Amino acid sequence: MHRTYIKDELVVFWDSEKCYHSRRCVGSSTKIFDPLRRPWIDLSQGDMPEIWQAVSCCPSGALTCAYTHGITVRFEAEKCRSAAYDGEKEVGVCLYREGPDGWSIVSTRVDPAYGGKGIAKRLVYSVVEAAERSKQGVIPVCSYAVKVLA
Ligand code: SF4
Repeated sequence: MHRTYIKDELVVFWDSEKCYHSRRCVGSSTKIFDPLRRPWIDLSQGDMPEIWQAVSCCPSGALTCAYTHGITVRFEAEKCRSAAYDGEKEVGVCLYREGPDGWSIVSTRVDPAYGGKGIAKRLVYSVVEAAERSKQGVIPVCSYAVKVLA
């Protein structure tokens, strides 16, 4: 399972396949991370330093974070993609194709002027989250999706 959580300027990514339940995040903040709650991560329960500190405790790479840099990511099912916007300007896309075995992520591109801001990862997670919620498998084809989902 892959999930993205946003609070103010901070994006937290969680990849359950990498989580080996060390509970260090829970030990860092029982308010933000509560395994008995759904969703189990609630960023509204902590401030930015608390969240950053808790994510930094994760030994497995299951939790990672980035700043939004004011960029909005939207899932656009009608176009089989997620897209990133700086205001109204499109600055990145992640395209997928639907098939009998699931959704194949075939391309992830970000305007080079916006590189290094975690946008591509947000785009891939957006598609993966949508696929998981639709009970579809995900087949990473483009090299970036392969890397993010490895
Ligand atoms: S610290 Fe990381 S590996 Fe440990 S429970 Fe939290 S998310 Fe999972």
